[in-house]
Amino acid sequence: EKIVIKELAEKLEVRSTEIIKELMLMGIMANINQEVNFDTATEIAEKYGILVEKEDEVDILEEFFKEAPSESKDLKTRPPIVVVMGHVDHGKTSLLDAIRKTNVTSREAGGITQHIGASVVESNGNKITFLDTPGHEAFTAMRMRGAMATDIAILVVAADDGVMPQTIEAINHAKAAGVEIIVAINKIDKPGANPDRVKQELVEYGLVVEDWGGETIAVPVSAIDGTGIDTLLEMVLIVSEMTELKANPKRNARGIIIEAQLDKGRGPVATVLVQNGTLRVGDPIVAGSAYGKVRAMMDDKGRRVKEAGPSKPVEILGLNEVPFAGEPFYMAKSDREARQVAEKVIEKGRVDLIQNTATKVTLDDLFSQIQAGKVKELNIVVKADVQGSVEAVRQSLQKLSNDEVVIKIIHGGVGAVTESDVLLASASNAIIIGFNVRPETSAKTVADREKIDIRLYRIIYNAIEDIEAAMKGMLDPEF
Ligand code: GDP
Repeated sequence: EKIVIKELAEKLEVRSTEIIKELMLMGIMANINQEVNFDTATEIAEKYGILVEKEDEVDILEEFFKEAPSESKDLKTRPPIVVVMGHVDHGKTSLLDAIRKTNVTSREAGGITQHIGASVVESNGNKITFLDTPGHEAFTAMRMRGAMATDIAILVVAADDGVMPQTIEAINHAKAAGVEIIVAINKIDKPGANPDRVKQELVEYGLVVEDWGGETIAVPVSAIDGTGIDTLLEMVLIVSEMTELKANPKRNARGIIIEAQLDKGRGPVATVLVQNGTLRVGDPIVAGSAYGKVRAMMDDKGRRVKEAGPSKPVEILGLNEVPFAGEPFYMAKSDREARQVAEKVIEKGRVDLIQNTATKVTLDDLFSQIQAGKVKELNIVVKADVQGSVEAVRQSLQKLSNDEVVIKIIHGGVGAVTESDVLLASASNAIIIGFNVRPETSAKTVADREKIDIRLYRIIYNAIEDIEAAMKGMLDPEF
């Protein structure tokens, strides 16, 4: 640490020449534009009776993102945030439509639903927030950015088709995120519907339905004729009540950007979901490198609102640029702070910020991460050419768990390593192991960007050997 003599003089409120004179007495020849080190500056300052303290480089970002705990008396129940997942064509979109429709007809005003990326529906006077983009990829992509926006996943399984590969993916994505799963057995209006077969198949993935002695709630529904939709919403509320979802409406707002785009007339438009606190018109906010004052807010019924509390999605105007979907947003104390934080984010690079929060695990540094206490669980995604290999690997790898690290296969499936696998690995800090399969091109791109360790093998034994070695810090470096 150094200070230019001119600045030192200004701080000490003496003339620069005085300081140069002092320096000469100390045997240092210098001009006013030269720097002196901290100790020298201290010595000089002491002669003027001033105590020098090092100016701490306060990390403005760290300070800003810190979330002080709320007092329990300020915590209030908030509506659950729900996402719909499942295999393609099993009826995710139809179900969301049906849910919104039941709701619109029940409200006398008949508000026009606005597509803002999330919608609020009511069941017996209780609110439920639905994210409009169905699918586990969107869900996990958000989680990957460090924002956990969902409480409950509705898993849609078509009763005439049963559990399919993306059903399994959805189950594992939801489980890895630790969200509650409610099963909607859809298309029960169809002649070929067989809800019991769906229940049977779900058992294999750890979802045992209530009427079979398990804890998983399953509701038979039809997105086409509306059967069971009300019951489904009631179940969502029951589960949400059990999980005791709370937030503090009194604090500064923070939440997540659901979607955002540039509107020709209105500028950057973003849908935000408030997760905690209350967002008000006029509040300065930051979302990544975007910042601004909330100029106007609109709810999902297209109504102008002045404030949005926990779990409420609103469309906002006023940001200086279009933020990324999935980016967390925070309210700042002032416009100035909002700008400063955004500038710092640009300076540091948002990718860096995210990676700082979660060090990615790799086989090469697994041992040192275990030693440092950073890793207590090694999460693994297994992909193979045949189901038999997936199971064989799952069993052998789980056996490697020891006192220091537990090996957890968070997802196993047949087929190439997909982008969805990489997103899951990234969001859950996992490595990926492939047997006689390759990553798809898009998967490889994301894996490179997210620094996900993908290991490809032809022989199961080699994989086990590698992981065993990595756990002991004896893995041969990969060339
Ligand atoms: P997604 O890919 O999961 O979003 O599925 P969609 O909502 O697009 O539905 C796929 C197809 O299944 C569409 O043709 C729907 O009309 C149909 N479908 C969805 N739900 C039902 C249902 O409950 N009953 C029947 N008979 N068809 C349905």
